[in-house]
Amino acid sequence: MKVNEIMANLEAKHPGENEYLQAVREVLETIEEEYNKHPEFEAAKIVERIVEPDRIFKFRVVWVDDKGQTQVNLGYRVQFNAALGAYKGGLRFHPKVNESMLKFLGFEQIFKNSLTNLPLGGGKGGSDFDPVGKSDAEIMRFCQAFMYELWRNIGADQDSPAGDVGVGGREIGYLYGAYKKIAREHSTGALTGKSYGWGGSLMRPEATGFGAVYYVDRMVKQNGDTLKGKKIALSGFGNVAWGAAQKATELGAEIVAISGPDGVCEISGGMNQEMFDYMLEMRASNHNKVEEMAQKFPAKAKFTAGKKAWVVKCDIAMPCAFQNELAEEDAKMLIANGVKYAAEVSNMGCQPGAIAAFQAAGIPFGPGKAVNAGGVATSGLEICQNAGHINWTAEEVDQKLHKIMNDIYDLCVKYGKQADGKINYVKGANIAGFMRVANAMIAQGII
Ligand code: GLU
Repeated sequence: MKVNEIMANLEAKHPGENEYLQAVREVLETIEEEYNKHPEFEAAKIVERIVEPDRIFKFRVVWVDDKGQTQVNLGYRVQFNAALGAYKGGLRFHPKVNESMLKFLGFEQIFKNSLTNLPLGGGKGGSDFDPVGKSDAEIMRFCQAFMYELWRNIGADQDSPAGDVGVGGREIGYLYGAYKKIAREHSTGALTGKSYGWGGSLMRPEATGFGAVYYVDRMVKQNGDTLKGKKIALSGFGNVAWGAAQKATELGAEIVAISGPDGVCEISGGMNQEMFDYMLEMRASNHNKVEEMAQKFPAKAKFTAGKKAWVVKCDIAMPCAFQNELAEEDAKMLIANGVKYAAEVSNMGCQPGAIAAFQAAGIPFGPGKAVNAGGVATSGLEICQNAGHINWTAEEVDQKLHKIMNDIYDLCVKYGKQADGKINYVKGANIAGFMRVANAMIAQGII
């Protein structure tokens, strides 16, 4: 494979799809050396095949808002690669959603799902619907309208969507209710992230954040260090940041910042249970304002408008909100302030310049597809429970999640250890994720 040739070809076919092209370039550049040791990959054109989705569904979603006005949105499902199993990946509701964004996320999902070692193919979907400011009834009507189109293309053995940005337990409930009614079957494996009691798995809401902290815990231990007393800055206040904040606090770390689109809350004395619970309320309110944390807990949280979490001095930076949210200048500020570790929890949360800056400064950097894989892994465990008509306890799920994250960490070390003994986690995750998919594609023939 020659990365530049492949990228030039892809850029010509997909002009302007920058996030998708950025994601592909990162994977190809890091796997190139290993790939070229395998003439069978080149002969079967694995890379040329893997960069194009199997198919993309794009559809109109029409619904009526609370004022009686008709609203029109676009809906998508990208079914990217099914070498390892039925398509699996979240649904994102956000005004910036477009085909390029979902292709980048779907592409990343292939390798993330591969890292979990579960039988999960890669997919992603969503809509440019903006949940901010919407009432509960509007959210429900939108989810029902979205499912009117999507239902035919999903199912336990076909494609199993879950939540992502803007899609949490409430939305999955409305989506599943509509699916069940239209498809006329209670096929619980058709969606994950369901609530406990009607097919959901305990620990799924916490899983992405918990898993990320399990991974960071290993990064820290690798350096003979411990999470105890470490100061952590997080961006976001959704499910992912919520889980990470709780697990990090439980393991003795201190959350010093959380941020939102409006600014940052600097936290003194760490976060407590009341504050964790309030994060859920903030998310459910659809106001999308982190300032509300400072209004509710004025003695603990100090709000500054227009600033990111990365201005706060910390030992560990964990972007948990959106892609490209941590720029090169943010990384440089974190480094100048003495950051010791960086772990991307949002998919592609760090811009390429930020990753390069961390790596050049010798800061261990964990990439999103490995760090945040605990979410989809627990979705895989939810599907297992659905298929077997069983419910594992929270401890059982947590144990399995912890083991999966440890195994992912070990894979990243195995494939990412460099001659100087340092670990390139980005390279390790990409090679490990890619090899499993490529070998499956070879075994399944040219199709
Ligand atoms: N949206 C999450 C992710 O990016 C979860 C996907 C899932 O559980 O299927 O991995």
